[in-house]
Amino acid sequence: MSFDDNIRKVVPYTPGEQPKSDDLIKLNTNESPYPPSPLVSEAIRNFDADKLRKYPDTNATELVDELARTYDLKSDNIFVGIGSDDVLALAFLTYFNSDKPIIFPDITYSFYDVWADLYRIPYETKALDDDFNIVKQDYLCDNGGVVIANPNAPTGAQMPLEDIEEIIAFNKDRVVIVDEAYVDFGAESAIPLIDKYENLVVVQTFSKSRALAGIRIGMAFGQKKIIDYLKDVKFSFNSYTLNPVTIAIGAAALRDDAYFKDITAKTVATRERVKKELKALGFSFADSKTNFIFAKHESVKAKELFEALKAQNIYVRFFNKPRIDDHLRISMGTDEQMDKVITFLKGYLNG
Ligand code: PMP
Repeated sequence: MSFDDNIRKVVPYTPGEQPKSDDLIKLNTNESPYPPSPLVSEAIRNFDADKLRKYPDTNATELVDELARTYDLKSDNIFVGIGSDDVLALAFLTYFNSDKPIIFPDITYSFYDVWADLYRIPYETKALDDDFNIVKQDYLCDNGGVVIANPNAPTGAQMPLEDIEEIIAFNKDRVVIVDEAYVDFGAESAIPLIDKYENLVVVQTFSKSRALAGIRIGMAFGQKKIIDYLKDVKFSFNSYTLNPVTIAIGAAALRDDAYFKDITAKTVATRERVKKELKALGFSFADSKTNFIFAKHESVKAKELFEALKAQNIYVRFFNKPRIDDHLRISMGTDEQMDKVITFLKGYLNG
């Protein structure tokens, strides 16, 4: 017997690389290429450091009220955490306590199986079809809970909202989490279904569409009852999560709706243009509704392209995993950055 026998052993999630240098085109972690709203800089400048003497508002009221206004919900329909990773981690702990396996796609956000392993939640994965679409029928079965990223990551593909609704309606006796980290880039949100289904939890983030990955804000939306369960677990774990600087920054970002619409529209326009360019270069991909494209080249291996791009200081994401190790996930940068990527690929593939 050694102390080692009593350790909770886990294989952790591997985040995308965060290189130290700024002198590169970073398209590997789906961050926004645009700065946050100018109202965010103003909120930072005006922040009174004396506020840090005290513990923060455990309910993050200023931020939650601004979210309620933005999404036309009540404050008690909203939970906030330190990025959607924190919200999802607490959601798994709160909602998935069945002996039956929870279910999610085989190709999806690779943190889901890590949380399931961490909490010893049994799980089963359901294979995407050959075009990387989620197969609705697979989620109409007995299970301990459902997690679906919509649009899915790293595929970028969207499942129609009618199909999401059918899954939620079928699984009314267990919780269905819809992870909408990328929904603001032209996909349809399940938020309007909250009123109708008490088993639905929709999770979103400030990290992508609001250009605030560094500040760490994520949120869950649902009926009061299901959100209250999440709050009970949070307050049994760590009451003081969001700090007052984060709360002020998040609220400021939400007040600048015009800026949010502008940067998300720019990313969507860039994505649609890059899709055409990549197709012409011999890439194929599921129709992305996100700020990235998950592409496979007809003849050149993904690993080779990944390394060739890296040698040019262009970072994209390569997953060394079965079924997807022939793909690259390319986050959308600015038009100027994407032009450099396309110019390099043209030379490399046709040269
Ligand atoms: N869900 C999905 C599908 C993601 O891709 C990410 C980003 N890695 C997250 C959740 C977590 O994002 P964050 O913690 O920055 O909100």
